[in-house]
Amino acid sequence: MAEYVVRASHGKATSLSLSSKKLKEVPQCVLSLTNLSVLLLNNNRITALPSQLTSLLHLAELNLGNNALKEIPAVLRHLESLKKLYLFSNQITAVSPEVMAALRNLVVLNLNHNQIQRLPPEMKSLRKLRHLSVLDNNLEEVPAELGHLTKLSEMNLTSNKLSRLPEQLYQCRELTKLHVARNQLTSLPEGIVALEKLQVLDVAGNKLSMFPVEFHLLPLKELHFEGNRFVHCEPVPSVQDAEVLALKELVARFVLWENRNRFSLIHRRLPNYPLLTALLANGSCCAVCLRPFLTTWLECVHFVSLRKDMKMRSSLTIPVRALLCSYKCFNTEGHSYYGVAIR
Ligand SMILES: [Zn+2]
Repeated sequence: MAEYVVRASHGKATSLSLSSKKLKEVPQCVLSLTNLSVLLLNNNRITALPSQLTSLLHLAELNLGNNALKEIPAVLRHLESLKKLYLFSNQITAVSPEVMAALRNLVVLNLNHNQIQRLPPEMKSLRKLRHLSVLDNNLEEVPAELGHLTKLSEMNLTSNKLSRLPEQLYQCRELTKLHVARNQLTSLPEGIVALEKLQVLDVAGNKLSMFPVEFHLLPLKELHFEGNRFVHCEPVPSVQDAEVLALKELVARFVLWENRNRFSLIHRRLPNYPLLTALLANGSCCAVCLRPFLTTWLECVHFVSLRKDMKMRSSLTIPVRALLCSYKCFNTEGHSYYGVAIR
């Protein structure tokens, strides 16, 4: 192994592979190779990194995959030029907020096959991150701050324990691939239609009952959804209760409707009432009459054909959520929305 380093040293090497050398620590002589930009230390038995690693000022790629690290080494926070960091298949349980806050140039972060329970909000500093992979860990939730990662193009959270995803995820407008298979998701956040570049979505092996509103407008090329709890289309008898809207809802519908008219008094005055504006931002729009409402009156579902409606190569249909404002709209002829029965 020393021979490799000597050769690398003479050649002022920018890249050094010490993969699969049964190393327990990083050899001292590596630390003098200050021109290194790529250092591969994967498939060894390394448990810690030396503090002198900071001498590798130009290091852009560091592979520590398949070692025996129990945490993300603190020294990494000084390697600010790092672009690719691989830490897969170690025994890491916690992700250091300090290291995440410091690695502002990171483009690829791979934490697959560890025992990580949470990701720190400080990950919002990774503004250049394009690939994030935390496959096969123990994540129970991910922070809303991931929504700050606006360059993110691929995210893999497969095989964790997630029961929900944050709404803010849909600020990651560059996402093209999202893998969240084998978790415990009962729903996907509304607003997914904002992910205009999403091509691959894998939600197989969760507890989803339907897809969010306007899901079928996504430009998906690949969708994996087997092993969920999707609603079926089968008739059950139902009773329609008399429809009485609360005063708050009646007023909200009126204000939302008036607010669409830019010449109306309400539209002009509403910005003076930020609390009211925030409240009304939760409103939505009836799938039948297209008029606005604040609180969902009737949750419905329509069955979307992957081939006909989404131009995908599959003969399957999927249930997509639709919100209706009233029984009046529900009882209108000519739509294909079904009420959802809870049993
Ligand atoms: Zn309606």
